[in-house]
Amino acid sequence: MDEKRAELIATAQAMSTLGLNPGTAGNLSCRLSDGEQEGFLITPTGTDYAHLKPGDIPWVGLDGRVSGKKSPSSEWRLHRDLYAVQPEAGAVLHAHSPFAVSLACLRLEIPPFHYMIARFGGDSVRCGAYALFGSQALSDAALSALEGRSACLLANHGMVVYGSDLKQALDRGMELESLCEHYWRASLLGAPILLNPEEMAAVRERFAGYGQQSSGIKTED
Ligand code: 13P
Ligand code: ZN
Repeated sequence: MDEKRAELIATAQAMSTLGLNPGTAGNLSCRLSDGEQEGFLITPTGTDYAHLKPGDIPWVGLDGRVSGKKSPSSEWRLHRDLYAVQPEAGAVLHAHSPFAVSLACLRLEIPPFHYMIARFGGDSVRCGAYALFGSQALSDAALSALEGRSACLLANHGMVVYGSDLKQALDRGMELESLCEHYWRASLLGAPILLNPEEMAAVRERFAGYGQQSSGIKTED
């Protein structure tokens, strides 16, 4: 368990170094059963990640039971609800990164202006309705914006992404922040030309066989 806590801390610190999180904003978790019950480790609330120690990382059960000396992130409901409905979520990242926040303040859904949007499971990245931070309403809004997707924006707030593990969640957070920046920059020059549903379906199909697949090298189209 301490190894997992150390990995969570290293990834949370990388979020800060990579510019995803200013100050103590944002939070990060990874799924972990305590031997008897399903749950997750999560960053403590309102804490600077720079000096976190493994003993500072609380564990939260899917029933809401908390163990640890520090209180969990105020967004523990959002993390819990996502683990409860999404078996593919092994880690969940929430960030207040600059370009994601900027688009979220306009309550913009990110359309298929770039093929990488398909990385998150659909033809757009939705923006969830506004709700108070740390509330059940915010968790509900996030889960509905995440339907069929591994990422969403949260109105007037930030972004949420999940991945199979901490590394994938961090990579996806960085990819989404880059896309938000590209959409922002392209929009300054005019209305970006959007890919159509057939083009996006072809991208999703290509992604299904993309990357370092364990089954060997694939060179055919
Ligand atoms: P925590 O410090 O409680 O994780 O809150 C930060 C945040 O981003 C709330 O939405
Ligand atoms: Zn937040």
